[in-house]
Amino acid sequence: MANPLYDTLFGCHAGSGAPFLRLPDGRTVTYGAFLVRAARFAHVLGGLGAEPGARVAVQVEKSADALALYAACAQAGLIFLPLNTGYTPAELSYFVENSGAAIFVCDPGRSETLQDVAEGAGARLLTLGAAGDGTLSEIAGDMPDAFDTVSRDGEDLAAFLYTSGTTGRSKGAMLTQNNLLSNAETLVACWRFTERDVLLHALPIFHTHGLFVATNVILRVGGSMIFLPKFDTDAVIDWLPEATSLMGVPTFYTRLLGDERFDRDITANMRLFTSGSAPLLAETHRAFEERTGHRILERYGMTETNMNTSNPYDGERRAGTVGPPLPDVELKVCDPETGETLSQGEIGVIEVRGPNVFKGYWRMPEKTAEELRDDGFFITGDLGQIDADGYVTIVGRAKDLIISGGYNVYPKEVETALDALPGVLESAVIGVPHPDLGEGVVGLLVPAPGETPDLAAAGAALSETLAKYKQPRHLAVVDALPRNTMGKVQKAALRRDWAELFD
Ligand code: ATP
Ligand code: MG
Repeated sequence: MANPLYDTLFGCHAGSGAPFLRLPDGRTVTYGAFLVRAARFAHVLGGLGAEPGARVAVQVEKSADALALYAACAQAGLIFLPLNTGYTPAELSYFVENSGAAIFVCDPGRSETLQDVAEGAGARLLTLGAAGDGTLSEIAGDMPDAFDTVSRDGEDLAAFLYTSGTTGRSKGAMLTQNNLLSNAETLVACWRFTERDVLLHALPIFHTHGLFVATNVILRVGGSMIFLPKFDTDAVIDWLPEATSLMGVPTFYTRLLGDERFDRDITANMRLFTSGSAPLLAETHRAFEERTGHRILERYGMTETNMNTSNPYDGERRAGTVGPPLPDVELKVCDPETGETLSQGEIGVIEVRGPNVFKGYWRMPEKTAEELRDDGFFITGDLGQIDADGYVTIVGRAKDLIISGGYNVYPKEVETALDALPGVLESAVIGVPHPDLGEGVVGLLVPAPGETPDLAAAGAALSETLAKYKQPRHLAVVDALPRNTMGKVQKAALRRDWAELFD
């Protein structure tokens, strides 16, 4: 009887008194205690008649118990389906119904509102609160502390993870045990994780970054995590001296840099800062090194594939790039129209293949066929290029590519030029309908604190650095860019807001 995911990440720690989670209230959860909790949860789930392969949809606050539910699903052979805590009942009803979940676990405070969602989808409703409350927790209290692990194969599905919905409706990516395990192994080796590591965990656990990248790596080596409910600059600064590593989205780093207490001393115990989920500005990378002496390691991945590329641990970490492909990942840049592989240095759509690549989108055979080639390559939808040393640079998403007057304009190139202007903190470049050009380039600037960028001077400066067709037809100052919880700029929302500009 084997269950590779459970055995390798969880089962191997059974009975261990080593710390797994350190919680902000001072409690420590050992591996042994965590696995007892998971076994009890597995009894509850199994007792409800959920058969191996059934989906368990979960929308709960981040907590040790929420992670134990992931372990319980692995042990009981169930498919774990975590959902963004920000989803409204209407959104949840799509996910619970679309996934055909047998069980839906929500926060105790929302059970009344979500009862209809569960009933409508034919799912059993359980509740689980961050304070150890809820019906799942109550029933689990009377359950045995060991559970016979359900036998599973590495090719069996372990999780459905819905994409962030940045470019359209979220899609349910079907991930196998091997998808998750192979990536965890690779990242442990590339990023040199050991049982001595203490990861400062401030990401949400409904997204691949906080759930699989961060948590699976720590579980694989038996390290520990300082498990914060969310990113809070004060809390992160308080805990940093006790941590060895932090995985973050770019916003974590810009916020830390905005605080004077964040310096060399406070990061002296740290060996690794990683960044992903959204582009890290080269400027942030430089400012971070100047302040702390650490070079952020930027990597690139997505829900469907976990991680694909990473800057090296030992070699040169290049600002503005996401590094070379990981050892067992093949990556190529292809012509978006013909699918042909382009030569080195050319910009095209990134395609990846490897043991990390998902099995397809749940109940979306057409979408799956469009994006997953017969030969196993996944068409990521990201535009990028590979330099002579194999480092990959992401230049934006295919869906954000602007075609103005017949010319391709890559937003990242224009944003980089805008970001370099005096008084500019960051920028977003979008294309909106234009009667003459098809799409007109629009540049939105966020001022640096206390500054007012001079738009006329900005326009003049760009005419020195960018070809005419790339220069924004319209520049505007905005207070902030709309971002989701993972720090991703919501360009679709910006395009909607500015759609009528050139009417
Ligand atoms: P959807 O697929 O629903 O539109 P999404 O692609 O934002 O949403 P995720 O799977 O959460 O959903 O995000 C993956 C995407 O995040 C990648 O395809 C890429 O565009 C972006 N990304 C991840 N890491 C980086 C990085 N280091 N630099 C730039 N972009 C990144
Ligand atoms: Mg995507």
